[in-house]
Amino acid sequence: MLIVQKYGGTSVANVERIKAVAERVVKTAKEGHKVAVVVSAMAGETDKLINLAHQVSSAPREREMDLMLSSGERVTCALTAIAIEELGHKAMAFTGRQMGIITDDVHTKAKIEKIAGERAKKALDEGYIIVVAGFQGITEKEDVTTLGRGGSDLSAVAIASALNADLCEIYTDVDGVYTTDPNIVPEARKLDKISYEEMLELASLGAKVLQTRSVEFAMKYEVPVVVRSSFNDNPGTLVTKEDKDMEKVIVSGVAYDKNQAKITVMGVPDKPGIAARLFKGIADAGIVVDIIVQNVSSDGKAADISFTVPKTDAKKALKMTETIAKELGAKGVDIREDIAKISIVGVGMRTHSGVASQMFETLAKHGVNILMISTSEIKVSCIIDAKYTELAVRVLHDAFGLAQG
Ligand code: ADP
Ligand code: ASP
Ligand code: MG
Repeated sequence: MLIVQKYGGTSVANVERIKAVAERVVKTAKEGHKVAVVVSAMAGETDKLINLAHQVSSAPREREMDLMLSSGERVTCALTAIAIEELGHKAMAFTGRQMGIITDDVHTKAKIEKIAGERAKKALDEGYIIVVAGFQGITEKEDVTTLGRGGSDLSAVAIASALNADLCEIYTDVDGVYTTDPNIVPEARKLDKISYEEMLELASLGAKVLQTRSVEFAMKYEVPVVVRSSFNDNPGTLVTKEDKDMEKVIVSGVAYDKNQAKITVMGVPDKPGIAARLFKGIADAGIVVDIIVQNVSSDGKAADISFTVPKTDAKKALKMTETIAKELGAKGVDIREDIAKISIVGVGMRTHSGVASQMFETLAKHGVNILMISTSEIKVSCIIDAKYTELAVRVLHDAFGLAQG
């Protein structure tokens, strides 16, 4: 088999961990498999680099940011290859560029366009274990790009697809995908398997165990992904196509996201074209709006429009909104950053009713006020006060019977 193994930040956090990774990789190779390894930067390294840049400038140039950020993964990929050689196995390290990972030029969140990888393929055929620096690529113009936070997951899935690998293993610091973040709810249960769609919802709703775009990619190209721990040999979670068994479970998981801000435009004249003007301005600024709620006052003359954006874009969105609000003759603009999005996810919701109301009742019973609601076929999300995040996750996890049996 050809196996891609991706090791996240905590799995390569120091020299001891890198040596342990090298041992696992060599063991896999000795079982007769070809192995392509993808590594993240050491835990905390990417944050440290971002922080450095912000000490120099409040708005560092993204092209230069990417060049700097790519260095964290370069270090671990070279070190891992050295550690593998030390164990007596042939290994060769590749940067994103050397792997031929071509992306678009949207710095700090580039999209992979193609992976050439001829040299790496040759090395694999010659019996080398290849070790690729995750999170990075290169544009046609040869500028270094990065793939968004958590982007090494995407590197791994895309490389697995390009190499036509039999399996893509994502090694992390938990045993697999759980019914909710096991670091918040110790009773959370590990799932043996989960559908691509559910995993995609969980990831995009805040479960950072897999990067959202990596799941999108895996689903599109049907890459079999297993999430496992690099700290033990426990079986992990298979992310795969939906099957009949999965529909029996109504709610598979609970996710939370504290990286949200809510902006409200108050007293906007209620007439056609207002929402279009507001959201076009925000979209043009490259900001993705998530939940939108509009209330018209009882006399029908004015409306309040509330929407959520990622906290990282909040300042930019607020400025933009204030300008447009003035132009539209609105009464004012308000922002709240102390909010969180709590979501329940499950393909079983397609065929069961009453799931949303059970969620609302559970939150109400525990005194958690709902600020906004959004639903789709397989998820329900509520915006709540951030201070109730952990409580809400725990009581919903309990209410939907997700705890260990
Ligand atoms: P890595 O550095 O290996 O990429 P991450 O920190 O990005 O690891 O992702 C692993 C973390 O994801 C876990 O430590 C856990 O806190 C968090 N997490 C959130 N939701 C879930 C979930 N449903 N199942 C498992 N882990 C989850
Ligand atoms: N090092 C990058 C990050 O911290 C990419 C990754 O870990 O996947 O976001
Ligand atoms: Mg990650």
